[in-house]
Amino acid sequence: MYAEDVPLAKIAAEAGTPAYVYATATIERHARVFSEAVAPLGEVLVAFAVKANPNAAVLATLARMGLGADVVSGGELARALAAGVPAKHIVFSGVGKTAQEMIQALDAGIGQFNVESEPEAELLSQVCRQRGQTAKIAFRINPDVDAGTHAKISTGKSENKFGIAYDRAAAAYAMARELPGLSATGIAVHIGSQLTDLKPLEAAFGRIGTLIGELRAQGHDIKVADLGGGLGIPYDRTLPTPPTPADYGAMTARVTRDWGTRFIFEPGRLIVGNAGVLLTRVIRIKQGAGNPFVIVDAAMNDLMRPSLYDAWHDIRAVKPRDARMTANVVGPVCESGDTFAMGRDMDAVEAGDLVAFMTAGAYGATMASTYNSRPLTAEVMVSGDRWAVVRQRPTIEALIAADHLPEWF
Ligand SMILES: *Cc1c(COP(=O)(O)O)cnc(C)c1O
Repeated sequence: MYAEDVPLAKIAAEAGTPAYVYATATIERHARVFSEAVAPLGEVLVAFAVKANPNAAVLATLARMGLGADVVSGGELARALAAGVPAKHIVFSGVGKTAQEMIQALDAGIGQFNVESEPEAELLSQVCRQRGQTAKIAFRINPDVDAGTHAKISTGKSENKFGIAYDRAAAAYAMARELPGLSATGIAVHIGSQLTDLKPLEAAFGRIGTLIGELRAQGHDIKVADLGGGLGIPYDRTLPTPPTPADYGAMTARVTRDWGTRFIFEPGRLIVGNAGVLLTRVIRIKQGAGNPFVIVDAAMNDLMRPSLYDAWHDIRAVKPRDARMTANVVGPVCESGDTFAMGRDMDAVEAGDLVAFMTAGAYGATMASTYNSRPLTAEVMVSGDRWAVVRQRPTIEALIAADHLPEWF
């Protein structure tokens, strides 16, 4: 198995395992395909959701292509700026922005704050007034639509913490009009992630369209519609293929035909998910009561999605042996939840073999922790026949050195 023109075995031999490996050409292709799919909507900003993969090399690749960034913390804002994303192409989302993060974003001159509550709008107004600045804001509206995805990645139902309730939206805009330092010219929606059906998105966008009409009737000049991210990707090739970016673009163009706004999109997973694999080596095979356990050197701390979301990743041998096996694939962490797959029909593997977890470029390395004192996984970027380590695996010494014994010890 190769990443572009580089054998994964070569990367494993030189960079060690576990390691995330990203393909530049695939990242670029996904960004291009998505951008082309939404281009018919007119003036569009595609703002990559940084939380999906904040590696500097990934962000710089996308910044070079002209993508903006959707950030959810001061840390992500700093990363996007450092990678070369122009501040005016940065959108700041998230329910818990602090005054300090607001100041950081105002000083940078970001394009838009996506405000998720009335108290957040009041704080932002206060910060702007103190500093004599004006913030362009969009209220993120919770359209109360069931996204039909995993509960932990659904964000658009009324019981979720995200956005302002649909029936409070008009009051929120009326309030913002009275608050100094705020220019509420946007509206935003994001109902969840890994959406494999366009209907919930269409329902949510339809509600936003209605609201734009109502807000304009009340004198609000809505100029920008931020339609979020969320389009799903194929993890399991035996399931029906999710809608394509072209399907999504066509639906969006149809629903928003007479909105007369500029548009922002915030895709994350779609851009980087299938551009990365997690490369790992089989430590040993252990006999189980039923299926054998394939114990690999990656664990839940490196790739959390299976234990967090019951997520399915295709698992393939890097050099297939022309045989199959049914196995439970697990990591070395001392948790039963450290399980990647149960009863999986997969390439037969033996101790020492390399295995790739497919579709691991989104919400992979970025969610990693050092649980069980396992250093964060290395990240590698490939471009054609070139490759480089784009995040070094920290040493155990560095991990230990971050801790300090108290003076009084
Ligand atoms: C996570 C997130 C996204 C990206 O979601 P994907 O499913 O990765 O496309 C976009 N916008 C907001 C506000 C998010 O929280």
